[in-house]
Amino acid sequence: MSIECAVHGERESRFLCQHLTPLSRGLGFFIEADGQSGWCAACEEVWSQHEEWNATVEAQLGIEHVCDVCFATIRDANEA
Ligand SMILES: [Zn+2]
Ligand SMILES: [Zn+2]
Repeated sequence: MSIECAVHGERESRFLCQHLTPLSRGLGFFIEADGQSGWCAACEEVWSQHEEWNATVEAQLGIEHVCDVCFATIRDANEA
């Protein structure tokens, strides 16, 4: 799946929770085993309480689509 990134042009798509943005720093970074999705420490906390995909988890994460370059940059800025 590809995405047209405003900064990087046509790239592979990745998913991030709504808290992980180009401006966020040090929020923690948890990555899915397949490397396609990332989420912050607060989302990890909610996820660990539910351990299944439901409306509460979905509202917490508020998944955003980003390109793979943005994903890597945001990961570097937020992982502990
Ligand atoms: Zn989050
Ligand atoms: Zn990008």
